[in-house]
Amino acid sequence: MCFNKRFRSVIPGLRSVIPAKAGIHILTLLLVATPLHAKALNVVATSSDLATIAQAVGGSHVKVHALVRGSTDLHSIVPKPSMVVQVRNADLLLRIGMYQDGWVNSLIQTARNPKVFPDKMGYLDASTAITALDVPTGNIDGGKGDIHIAGNPHYWISPLNAIKIAGLVYDHLVRLDPTHHTQFLENLNAFKASVTIKMPEWENKMSLLRDTPIVSYHSTWRYFLNDFGLFAVAKLEPIPGVPPTAKHIEFLQNTIKPIGHATKVIIAPYYNRNMAASFAANIQADFIVAPTSVEDGQSYANFIDSLVTTFSGKQ
Ligand SMILES: [Zn+2]
Repeated sequence: MCFNKRFRSVIPGLRSVIPAKAGIHILTLLLVATPLHAKALNVVATSSDLATIAQAVGGSHVKVHALVRGSTDLHSIVPKPSMVVQVRNADLLLRIGMYQDGWVNSLIQTARNPKVFPDKMGYLDASTAITALDVPTGNIDGGKGDIHIAGNPHYWISPLNAIKIAGLVYDHLVRLDPTHHTQFLENLNAFKASVTIKMPEWENKMSLLRDTPIVSYHSTWRYFLNDFGLFAVAKLEPIPGVPPTAKHIEFLQNTIKPIGHATKVIIAPYYNRNMAASFAANIQADFIVAPTSVEDGQSYANFIDSLVTTFSGKQ
């Protein structure tokens, strides 16, 4: 079929009003002006981690936007008008859930995009893919400031959970766009491989911390440490979300100091470093600032790589 005939058949009706020669020029314009992802699903994720995973699985058939980028305290985001616009235009809204990104609820209400209402196909709570740790039992007293009332919500900082999240995203993308099922499956397998191939190296480096007492400011790396059979012996916060008190710090100094070997005090970039650094100095511990999210330009495996290096001290 000649180029011009195909043009006429693709856009019915134009033949009668546009001369054949002009048609070629207009087709050229259309091809230039129409991006390859014209029909790509518009995915909006509440964090850069979920966005990175969605991009890895969706490939060229999704256009992904992260509402929040990089290591940020996702517990306390103030929604912006630009976020409303993003949610309004989303085909799929991918969120952390577990009260970590509760601020997205108001965005959903304000945006009024029926595709992403919680009971619709365009809404996906990634926490449904994982097994939550530290789920409170008995009475929960939110009045004390506990912000982990559904369990620890920092589950994306875990290579094992990332694979589960990618699988959930894959299941959802296939339902939203069945025609690209094969490509999504290839992408999913490539993402899994990018993580699993690194696991032996990560396990090796993290095993160096087996006898190292780890004190974290907040229980941020709970799942990450758990993947490697490790855990934090103490937190500087007395309760998740409640800043350290003098009484709690004094208790920790008296409790941890006698251990006497290479303790590590680890904090996210957005918490009070001075107080944590001072605590680390008092107990003669290493003081470490560690990332909590995929930064711009990183893959998920790059993020875990940098975290393993930061924790273990091994390049
Ligand atoms: Zn938290």
